[in-house]
Amino acid sequence: MNLAFKQPPKATHSLDSIADALLLPSGIDGVYARTAVFEQVVNGLTDLISEYREPNTEVLRFPPVMSRRQVEKSGYLKSFPHFLGCVSCLSGEEHEIRAALDDHESGQDWTPALAPADLVLSPAACYPLYPLAASRGQIPEQGLLFDVACDCFRREPSKMLDRLQSFRMREYVCIGTPGQIDVFRRRWMKLAEGFAARLGLSWGIDHASDPFFGRGGKMMAASQVEQALKFELLIPVRSAEQPTACMSFNYHRDHFGTTWNIRTANGEVAHTGCVAFGIDRLALALFATHGLELLRWPAGVRKALTV
Ligand code: 5GP
Ligand code: ZN
Repeated sequence: MNLAFKQPPKATHSLDSIADALLLPSGIDGVYARTAVFEQVVNGLTDLISEYREPNTEVLRFPPVMSRRQVEKSGYLKSFPHFLGCVSCLSGEEHEIRAALDDHESGQDWTPALAPADLVLSPAACYPLYPLAASRGQIPEQGLLFDVACDCFRREPSKMLDRLQSFRMREYVCIGTPGQIDVFRRRWMKLAEGFAARLGLSWGIDHASDPFFGRGGKMMAASQVEQALKFELLIPVRSAEQPTACMSFNYHRDHFGTTWNIRTANGEVAHTGCVAFGIDRLALALFATHGLELLRWPAGVRKALTV
C-alpha cells in the first residue's frame, strides 16, 4: 500500500514488545484478557468519542448477542457467512441434556447434542439498530442520529494482535435521505482527522472494501470501492506497508432501509450510513505509537484521554 500518512510515525513500538503488558492470551487466537492499563486507555477513548457526539443523538448500548433472524434478514449470510458465530445450546428434555453430559464425562464429544439458538454473536454494532428504528415509524425530516456500541464477534482466528475474534466497536449512525448521509459521512471523515491528530497518531484515509465471501465477493468488493461506499482510517500499527483499519466510514445506500422498510418523512426508502471506531485497535495503535508508559505520552494526548 502506498498511502501518504499524515503526521509521520514516531518511534513505533513493535506489537511483540508491548503485547505482554496489554493483552493476555486465553488459549484461543484472537481472544485476550485485557490488562488494567489497556482498559484505562479504552475508557479514555470511550469518553473522548462521546465528546464528539452531536446534539440530538440517541445513545443505545447493545449486548454482544442479537436476534439470528434479524441478521439473516439483513443479508449477512450472503456477504459474510464465514464470519458469523451462532449461539448453540443444549435443549430438550432433562434426559436428553443428561445424555450429552454423560458423553462428555466419558470422554466423548458432547457437542452433537447442541442445537442452534435464536441468537448470533453481533458482527457489528449497528445491525440491531435498523429493525429497532423501523419499528418506530417514519424518520423525521431532519433524519436520525444514533450512538451505538457492542462487543462484536467475527470468526477470524489470527495470531495478529490487531485482528481479534472478539472486539469492541462504537458507531455513530445516521438514518435519513441520501443527502443527509453524504453530509454526515463527509463531516465525520474530517472530524476523524482531528481525532487522530489529537491522539498523536499517524493516519491516512483511503477507499476500502469489506471482505465479502467467496468468488462473487471479489466483484462486490470492487463495486464497493468503485461506488466509494467505504473509507477507512488506516494507522501504521504493525507497519506502514500494511496499516491497520481503526475506523471505517460506511454508506449502505438503501440496503437497510429496504430490508426493514424504513421510510423518510416524504415516504421514500431511507438511506443509512455509519462511522465505526474499532476501540481495541485504536487503543493498540496508541500503545504502538507512544509506548507502554502512559506518563511518558505527549501531554496533549494524555489530556485528551485523561490518562
Ligand atoms: P468494519 O465493519 O468496517 O469491518 O469494522 C469497523 C471497525 O471495527 C474497523 O475499522 C476496525 O477498527 C474494527 N475491527 C474490524 N475487524 C476487527 C478485528 O478483527 N479486530 C479488531 N480489533 N478490530 C476490528
Ligand atoms: Zn455500522
